[in-house]
Amino acid sequence: MSAALIDGKRQAESLRQRVSERVAELARQGVTPGLAVVLVGENPASQVYVRNKARQTVEAGMRSFDHTLPATASQAELLALVARLNADPDVDGILVQLPLPPQIDAQKVIEAIDPAKDVDGFHPVNAGRLATGAPGLVPCTPLGCLMLIRSVRRDLAGLEAVVVGRSNIVGKPMAQLLIGESCTVTIAHSKTRDLPAVCRRADILVAAVGRPEMIRGDWIKPGAIVIDVGINRVPAAPEGKTRLVGDVAYEEAREAASAVTPVPGGVGPMTIACLLANTVTAACRRRGLSDPFKDGP
Ligand code: NDP
Repeated sequence: MSAALIDGKRQAESLRQRVSERVAELARQGVTPGLAVVLVGENPASQVYVRNKARQTVEAGMRSFDHTLPATASQAELLALVARLNADPDVDGILVQLPLPPQIDAQKVIEAIDPAKDVDGFHPVNAGRLATGAPGLVPCTPLGCLMLIRSVRRDLAGLEAVVVGRSNIVGKPMAQLLIGESCTVTIAHSKTRDLPAVCRRADILVAAVGRPEMIRGDWIKPGAIVIDVGINRVPAAPEGKTRLVGDVAYEEAREAASAVTPVPGGVGPMTIACLLANTVTAACRRRGLSDPFKDGP
């Protein structure tokens, strides 16, 4: 069997198009959603992410507010900026780019963001809403993963889902979303015994580990849907060059799965598109307007 490729680039483009349409409707009502992105320090990968987020925000017709603090910024300075953004009526979404320098407690910063503007969905209030099935803001990467899964199969009820990885930003919210779809969910992690056997149970396998090509073809149940969140840079020929690979051995997975996401071009592009959708959702809810993505973007 050769699995279908789940084209994250195309899905992200189509979501961005839907976001732009909603933004144009809001503009007719005099509303322009605004997203504030805060970068602390000069991490080159973070700089690229932040630039892409700002560009796509503007392309979708929204306002982008960029704030850069030096790597030496104190926690108090960052918290003061977050407080200003919380109070700014033009700002609908606030995203503080992670990782933060060691002198700053990332959890304290996340908890300082107004949950109504927490477009990353990392605030404990939003995590709690997701866990209890209440409407909130859902973390962008797992939200994008769910959309990719649903692009190949609408009804997930009763399927066995295995999420490898239990981080607060990917693994746990991914598991919550799949519970919401009535899957039977297993969360695996570094202490899981016989991981290959656990993975082999999965009709839906989500890998969010950060280990290059750890999940092999013979760990995959024939016909499974495989979502690869991992982004790992590995050495490539010619010497000195690098390339990106996921947590799944892609070519092997294609032999077993029914559908699989590539890296790059799978989950990655969906993350920013979901961020834009969350910003529109936040803008509408804050103004008491009907939520354009109330059944998911
Ligand atoms: P974390 O490092 O926070 O979490 C990794 C998880 O993998 C942990 O739960 C860890 O278990 C588990 N793990 C580590 N080693 C093993 C192992 N040998 N067997 C089983 N489980 C293991 O990573 P993130 O969740 O933040 O990210 C995961 C990957 O996804 C990374 O490659 C990251 O770059 C990528 N990513 C991609 C995004 C995108 O937009 N495409 C967005 C966010 C992340 P334990 O808890 O026991 O330590």
